[in-house]
Amino acid sequence: MAGLRYLENVVTLQLDMGKCVGCGLCATVCPHAVLVVNHREARISDRDACIECGACMRNCPTEALTVKAGVGCASAIIHSWLTGEEPSCDCGGSC
Ligand code: SF4
Ligand code: SF4
Repeated sequence: MAGLRYLENVVTLQLDMGKCVGCGLCATVCPHAVLVVNHREARISDRDACIECGACMRNCPTEALTVKAGVGCASAIIHSWLTGEEPSCDCGGSC
C-alpha cells in the first residue's frame, strides 16, 4: 500500500528534536518513508503518509517519537479497507 495517502492533517505523529540522537532506526522501520535521517538528525518528511503503525515509536531508543498507534482517523480508514465497513473513529469528523 506504499504511496497511498489518507486524510491531511489528522496524523498524531510527533517528533521531539531535542531527544533525537540520529540513530536512524525510525527511518529504517517506517514502511512509508515518513521519516528521514540526515546528518544524524531525524525529520518528518511526509507526515500525511503516516499510517500510525507505531513502529518508529517502539524502536526509538530515546522516546523522541510519539504517535497514537491503532487509534484515530488513519486507523479507522485502514480498518474500513480491511473489513469493508464504514470508517468510524469517533473524532466527530468524517473519515
Ligand atoms: S507510525 Fe509507522 S508509518 Fe508513521 S512514521 Fe512511524 S513507522 Fe512510519
Ligand atoms: S529512532 Fe529516535 S533517536 Fe533514532 S533517529 Fe529516529 S527519532 Fe532520532
